[in-house]
This record gives sequence, C-alpha cells and structure tokens, in this order.
Amino acid sequence: MAGIYIHIPFCKKACTYCDFHFSTTFEKYRVALVKSLCVELVARKDTLANQSISTIYFGGGTPSLLTEEELTLILSTVRDNFAVQEEVEVTLEANPDDIDLSKVNVWVKAGVNRLSIGLQSFHSDSLIWMNRAHTVAQSVACIPIAQQAGIQDISIDLIYGLPNMSNEVWREEIRTALQLGVQHISAYCLTVEPNTVLSAWVKKEKIQPASNELQNEHFTILQEELLTAGFEHYEISNFALPNFISKHNSSYWKGAIYLGVGPSAHSYDGKYRSWNVANNQRYIQGIENKQPEFDFELLTKENQFNELLLTGLRAKWGVSLVQLGAILPLDKSFLQQLEHLEKKGWVVCKENTLYLTQEGKSWADKIAQDLFA
Ligand code: SF4
Repeated sequence: MAGIYIHIPFCKKACTYCDFHFSTTFEKYRVALVKSLCVELVARKDTLANQSISTIYFGGGTPSLLTEEELTLILSTVRDNFAVQEEVEVTLEANPDDIDLSKVNVWVKAGVNRLSIGLQSFHSDSLIWMNRAHTVAQSVACIPIAQQAGIQDISIDLIYGLPNMSNEVWREEIRTALQLGVQHISAYCLTVEPNTVLSAWVKKEKIQPASNELQNEHFTILQEELLTAGFEHYEISNFALPNFISKHNSSYWKGAIYLGVGPSAHSYDGKYRSWNVANNQRYIQGIENKQPEFDFELLTKENQFNELLLTGLRAKWGVSLVQLGAILPLDKSFLQQLEHLEKKGWVVCKENTLYLTQEGKSWADKIAQDLFA
C-alpha cells in the first residue's frame, strides 16, 4: 500500500505565519504547472509499480483553486497510471472562501471523498491578523455546504497559541467547530517560522509570541474538549471520531512509502527520501526539459531511528523498542535517558512499546530529542 501526494503551489494571499511553498502570482503558469504535474506522475509511475494506492492527497498551497478540468485531469492521470484501490481515500485541502455547492459537487464527482479545510479560526480579528483570505461567515458556512454535497469525512485546521488569545476564546473556537459536526480536527500551535511576516513582526518586537505556559493551557483545553466530545487523540496535533483518522497522514507516521509530485513535494521509497525543487518556474522547466530538479538523501541508521522515534512517540500507537533496537542497539545512554523520562512521568513503557503520558504530550518533540541517536 502506498500514497500519492500532489502539491498545488498557489494561494490567493500569503498568510502571516506560513512557510510552505506557494506563490500568489500563478495565473500565467498554472496551465504549464498542471501539465508538468501530470508529466511527472507518468514519468515516475514505475516507482510505485508493485504498490496499490490507498490514499491520494492534494495539498498546498491551495488545491481548492484548481478548476474542474485541472482536478479531473490530474486524478485521471493518477488512475490511468497507478493501481488505485477502489476504497481509496482522496483528500483535497480547501479554503473556506473556495467552498460553494457547485464546486464541492464537482470535487465529489471527480472522486474526492475527504476535505481538509484550512479554516483556522471563527474569529474575525484572528483571521485578519493571520491575513487569511476568508471571513468568519465563510468559516461557518463551508461545513454545511460540504455536508450537503455528500462529503462525510471533513477535517478542519485550527490554530491556537496566538498572542493574546484567551483560554475562553480558544474554548469557544473548539466548541463552534464541534457544533458544526466535523469528523476530524487538526489543531496546530502557532509557531514562528523563519522568513515569514510573523518572524519579521517578532524581530521588530511588533508582537510578543504567546508564552509556553499559555500554549500548554490551550493544548490542555483542546484535549479536554475533544476527548469529552468523543474524539480520539491519535497524533499530537490530530483528533478524530472513531474510523475517521487520516489514512494518508497516518501512513507517513508509520513509515509507509509515498510518491510526491509538484514543486517542493517530498517522496519516500523505503530507503531514499527525495524532494523536488521548491520553485515553480524551475520545476516546470526541469519537467519540460526532461531534467527534473530534485535532491535526495539515503536515510542513515540514525535518521531511521530518529524518525521512527519521533513519529511513533507523537502517535497513539507508540514506538516499538524492538523495532528501534533492530535499527540501532539501544545503548546505555538511551536506557538511562528513558529511565529518567519515566521517572518524570513523561513516558511509559508497556509490552516493549513506548508511549507518551498525558503530561508527556506537552513535550513530545523535546522528549524525542532527548532520546535521539
Ligand atoms: S492558504 Fe495555506 S498554504 Fe497558502 S499561505 Fe495560507 S497557510 Fe500557507
């Protein structure tokens, strides 16, 4: 089983916190870009020759900016060149301002059966501060529209840990989402990434990021509200109702192989990780000249160990010490560190599998770093 990721590098506006690869000026080359995506899919079909495709994921950028013809062309190229399972999960990332009934009907007709909506907030001041392209009214309206079109698997993204966001406002955001009947919530703590508007604001002391304490309080509220509502906390940033975990993202965290096409897209074949050039013009030229620009690395034992540790610890299924030990021996310093973390109450080991405790979930990345090879 394998997945296919398709990167659509267009956005209407640049969100203040975003460091993904995208461009807001795309009309002049969107035709060439979609064509290049299809050429790349065909050129790389042998990389998944013996695999059945269980998930297809349109990410970005903003894939909901694709026209009906573009989306249909890309999906039919996938179906014509790969062994796509009948029950395939097809996710499209969509922004609320692109969601109307006729558009969602088109997506459903093309084969999309899961939406991941970049909603982020139900508060006008937060949306403006983040420079999002949509309004609160669109945040609220988009979910019933998607449901009306027959999408039964809807995920939304929310952001917490904004400067000055009170606990009450954050709790209200979550409760509003729950009232709208979504099946999956990805909630991300605002982080200041280099080369973003947000990082420039922080440098100029225009804003003061939220304290770790406040961010942890928001994370606790998130867990309280969603666990009470019957959601499962299956990955640090991801919560789902039973049977609605993201198959595509879970396969990344379980180390499955995948093919990523489009500028900046990453691929993994079980040994090598590769990534396309994060530049739309160079990506198109490379494909047109049959000299695609990409880079790659062979995962060292240390890389494999650390990735398994980080992704497993963040997920509800934990990390198997047997699997870790098969990559690299669990040496004395690892075992001492593990004992220390257990004493602190941050990790627990059951049947040779390591899990984060409730308290440990607030420190997932730090714990993984302490245990890295
Ligand atoms: S819409 Fe998404 S990808 Fe585009 S700038 Fe905003 S956060 Fe980034």
